Amino acid sequence: MNPVEKAARDSNVEKCVQCGKCTAGCPSGRQSRLRTRTLVQMAYQGQDVTGLPELWDCTTCYNCAERCPKGVNTVDAIILLRNLAVQKGNFPRIHLSAIENLYNTGNGFPLSPEVAQIRAIIGLKKEPYDVSTAPEELEKVKKILDITGFLELVRGGTT
Ligand code: SF4
Ligand code: SF4
Repeated sequence: MNPVEKAARDSNVEKCVQCGKCTAGCPSGRQSRLRTRTLVQMAYQGQDVTGLPELWDCTTCYNCAERCPKGVNTVDAIILLRNLAVQKGNFPRIHLSAIENLYNTGNGFPLSPEVAQIRAIIGLKKEPYDVSTAPEELEKVKKILDITGFLELVRGGTT
């Protein structure tokens, strides 16, 4: 069994009846190339989808998994396929800045001055309480990323 077939099996994609409820409810698919049903079908057939750019258009909102009448773990399948894609060197460069932000600040999308201003207008604290405002917690995040070699892995896999 090749890794793509294993990812497909672990996510119950064999239960898919191709009803299309996942694609119909996918908010990302309305704005992008992502077609969840097609991706599931291709993975089930053992096709190598790890080079498809739309694999990275999913926001992991889980709407598709919620809607699936057959209990297919579509999001797990997509995440597994992404893992395989990175191992093959298919990590889109466009996402690298978010990964490096995560490492440096604990937040993939650090607070911009504009957002900070909006927060102030609606009465929120200027900065949310998260890892970026807790240096000791940020060190823990960095340690995890260092130990797992995450940063090096994605840097090596950018396309
Ligand atoms: S909703 Fe579930 S059964 Fe329907 S196409 Fe999507 S994965 Fe297959
Ligand atoms: S988890 Fe991904 S594929 Fe599923 S509905 Fe959300 S964006 Fe679409």
